[in-house]
Amino acid sequence: MGGQPLYLAPRLAARLRSLLDAPDLLHTLTDGLGSPLNLVVPDQLVDNLRQFRSVYGKHHLAGQVFFAHKANRSSALLRRLAATDAGVDVASLGELQHALGAGFTPDRITATGPKNPEFLWLAARTSVTVSLDTRGELDQLATLIRKHTLPRARILLRLSGFETSGVRVLSRRSRFGTAAGESGPLLEAVERHTDVVDLLGVAYHLDTTSLTEKATALEGCLRMLEECRRRGLRPRAVDIGGGFGVDYLADGGQWDRYTTELTEAVLGTRPPLTYGGHGYGLRSEAGTLRGTLGLYPAHRPVAGARYLDELLSHPATSMDGRPLAALLLEHLYDLHTEPGRALLDQCGVTLGKVLEVRDQETGGPLAVRLAAKADDVALEEHGVLMDPLVIPRDTAGAVTGPGTGPVAGAEPVAVHLFGSRCLESDLITRRTVFLPHRPEPGDLLAFANTAGYCMDFHATRAQHQPVARKVAAWQEGGTWRWCLDDQYWPTTPVGGAQ
Ligand SMILES: *Cc1c(COP(=O)(O)O)cnc(C)c1O
Repeated sequence: MGGQPLYLAPRLAARLRSLLDAPDLLHTLTDGLGSPLNLVVPDQLVDNLRQFRSVYGKHHLAGQVFFAHKANRSSALLRRLAATDAGVDVASLGELQHALGAGFTPDRITATGPKNPEFLWLAARTSVTVSLDTRGELDQLATLIRKHTLPRARILLRLSGFETSGVRVLSRRSRFGTAAGESGPLLEAVERHTDVVDLLGVAYHLDTTSLTEKATALEGCLRMLEECRRRGLRPRAVDIGGGFGVDYLADGGQWDRYTTELTEAVLGTRPPLTYGGHGYGLRSEAGTLRGTLGLYPAHRPVAGARYLDELLSHPATSMDGRPLAALLLEHLYDLHTEPGRALLDQCGVTLGKVLEVRDQETGGPLAVRLAAKADDVALEEHGVLMDPLVIPRDTAGAVTGPGTGPVAGAEPVAVHLFGSRCLESDLITRRTVFLPHRPEPGDLLAFANTAGYCMDFHATRAQHQPVARKVAAWQEGGTWRWCLDDQYWPTTPVGGAQ
């Protein structure tokens, strides 16, 4: 491997950094509970919630932050959140049962996503808010309530396909929700069902990083709320979904350099940077770069609560350019958000033990095999490129990763990270990863910031291999304590729920 190592160091906040600075604990845990192993840090979720709340405060807005449960199955995270005043957004029968069992009262739960009859029934039975995708779903809910004499239901109408007049900005297509321009029949159905449903407001969720698209959708929702009021309905909230994003990398310069060099590798003007010359969506056609880079923008300084702040400060183009927050405030609408990934920022780590380190005859990158499958560390699946930290078995050595600086005398190495499945394609990442020194069997690789979607969303039991166990960790008087995820309750840690 010629040239400088191309590091992509993870951004580590103090709590996660402190956990990764406890190699004895990490090795004890994986020795006892196996590899891969997931660690979640419930107290961090509370700090992240506080950041979202402070943006609400800055803009004088009322409303609820609903954690999008689907991003992580953890009980500890959910129970810790139940001890705060936050809400939860559930997207399946199982998630609803989990939330109720974790201590969320129905007024703090919103049911979204595709709904089967059981999910809809339990949602209506327990009086959680139901975010409805279509008129058909509304009819189904109304029928269910009448048939089983259930309480009146609070509903949100999920919209999609927004457009602005003037500069035509179309928000991306979604198979969820009703097209904003075709909402007439939906509102008529709401009017027909007012004996069994209360319209709380309208909702959207767009899986995009684009602020303008989201601003367009929010404006569309404000117009829809006006239309509802013209019809004599009394909506009072907008739910703007999730998608606030995470800033994964410590150093924007590393990201820029990496993407530049990846482009050059695809064009063949530098040695490959991936296994088998994979281009992450880019390809070369007769020396010309084609395709689009299919990667998460891993260096994203405006993410999470800051992204919400920018969205709320965004001018409403069709409403005299005033900030969106001012329009919400003027109508006294509540603002509901459903962050998943962003609330889980810095909330977890996935550990994988190194089983084998093999030199390649060609002198190429070392082949490193981990006791973990690609779907146990789903960063690659989400297009997030980020280096693991090496936690040496020999605990005399410090934790060494690109975030912690070079070890004296150690030579950086290029590696390919293979999973434990008997499958050519089982690579933890197709990227050639640079580590500050050669790992040894028994060392751990720690993948930081995996709590959002990269821990258990994709995990399988393929080949009878275990799925990772999950441990909740917290600090007590300067030391780390832990328990199995499903043993954690806010009463468990002495210094727990505050
Ligand atoms: C997945 C989802 C979210 C969370 O999205 P993030 O990108 O994790 O913030 C919120 N709302 C709905 C309806 C979703 O489907």
